[in-house]
This record gives sequence, structure tokens and C-alpha cells, in this order.
Amino acid sequence: MADAIERAAVEAIRRAVIYLPPDVKMALIKAYEREENDVARAQLKSILDNIELAEKMARPMCQDTGMITFYVDVGYDFPGARYVRDSLVNSARVATQSVPLRPNSVHPFKNVNTGDNTGRYSPQIHWELVPGDSLKFTVVPRGGGSEYPTALHMVPPGRGLDVLREVVLESVLRAGAMPCPPTIVGVGVGGSVETAVFIAKKAAALRKVGTLNEDPELAVLERELTEAINELGIGVMGLGGKTTVLAVHIDYAHRHPATYPVAVVFQCWAARRATAIVEPGGDFQILQ
Ligand code: SF4
Repeated sequence: MADAIERAAVEAIRRAVIYLPPDVKMALIKAYEREENDVARAQLKSILDNIELAEKMARPMCQDTGMITFYVDVGYDFPGARYVRDSLVNSARVATQSVPLRPNSVHPFKNVNTGDNTGRYSPQIHWELVPGDSLKFTVVPRGGGSEYPTALHMVPPGRGLDVLREVVLESVLRAGAMPCPPTIVGVGVGGSVETAVFIAKKAAALRKVGTLNEDPELAVLERELTEAINELGIGVMGLGGKTTVLAVHIDYAHRHPATYPVAVVFQCWAARRATAIVEPGGDFQILQ
């Protein structure tokens, strides 16, 4: 079973870094068709050509193959639960060699790169126990340019919703070209600070582009924010035009009455993800 989980994870990492999910690709194609600015159109064309070349050559679509994060759902009755952690960590080592991936795991004090994308809390693994007997995990290789401009605001609780729009626009302006726009902006509202960042990242990376928020009011807010951000003129790779974001995804958590965290995270155009489902017998499939 350990071997099956490791093979599923290596294949999921390989698929994620080479093949962009269809929803993201479609959003980029639509942005290209809509864009009127010549420079922005040329940049979008380069991105689309790059995606096609990566697929044809079976090579990663970006030199930064990111820090690996796994979002794991373990069935209560999945027979291989005890092997999951080690198998996922090993898969990062194996994929670093076989795909290959750029080694991106660096000790923060000694500045030493482990060379295999593993280390303390690396790869990152987030767990949930769910009903059932299978294992499901989604791997997200997250680039440094996406991570760097992450913003966390503690806004006055009494004015939370009023200033939400303001802090999101301010964060996007401050990020500028760094997260390689067009991005998917994730906004996590409420909860504790770690919850706000966690749900913002999940919303940006896991929710399919083009899907509506389940909450109709948040769906309207997402559309308004998307339009407002695209009016800022940052544009593709920061070179102007009306395509700064492909989508804004909002999630929320209940908060303490005295606090109102707002996390704003960025997912670059290379919004990579792949999901593996491992059955109790060890068979697995990869979805994107
Ligand atoms: S932000 Fe994304 S597209 Fe830009 S270099 Fe990093 S991984 Fe690549």
C-alpha cells in the first residue's frame, strides 16, 4: 500500500507541474480572446504557447516548480492510513529526481537547500478525516512569486465588510507583477489568522475557475472585486491591459467578536493542481 500511495503521489506531482487543469487553461484562453491591449495579448499568447509546449515535451510549465502542498482526505476506514505521511514525503524526493523538479526547500536560518524538496514541514500536508475507505489528496505546487505578496490584514471588526474591498484592492496593487498575473486571488475572511490564510489558499488553489461561490452574496462580491481589480490596469505580467485576475475566490470562517482577519493570497497563472484517489486495494486514478 505504501508503494501505491507513493506512486500515486509522484504521478500527481508530475501531472500537476506539466499539465495545467482544464478550467485554468480555459480561463486563460477566454482572457486572450477578450483582451484588447496588444502587449497583454502577446503575453497571453506566450503563456498559452508555453502551456502547449510543456504538454508536448512533457516538461514542467515553469522553472519554479513550487513548494509542494498536499491537501489530504483520509477515509476513516482507509487501510493504508499509517503509510500516507511517509509515502507523500518520499514522493517529493522521487519526483524531484524523476520529473524533475527544482529543489525549493531551504532551511530559513542556515540557508541550506535540502536538494530534494523535503525538510521540516516540507512538503506541507494538511489532513482531514472523512467518511469512507479511500484516500484522496490534491497536490498544489505553489510558486514563490505567488507566496511572496501574501497579505494579512486585521481590520476594525466594526467596519469589516466596508473595508474588505479596500484591503483586497490595496493588496493587489502592492503585489503588482510579482505573482505573475493573471492570478486567481483568494480571500479568507474571519476565523483566526491561520484559518484566514488557510481558507484563502484553499479557495485560490482548489476551487475551479469559473465556478460560482455557493453563497449568492459572496458570488456577487467576487464578481465585483474581479471587475474592480481588472480596472486597475496592472495586466498580464504587470504590462498593462485588463487581465490582472482570472477570478477572485472568497471563503469565510466564524471569528472572535473582537477580531476581523482578512487574508489575501495569490495564485499565479500557473495554477497547478492534480488530485489522486487511492482505493483500499491500492488502485489509483489521477484527476485534474
Ligand atoms: S509565480 Fe508562478 S508563473 Fe511566476 S515564476 Fe513563480 S511559479 Fe512560475
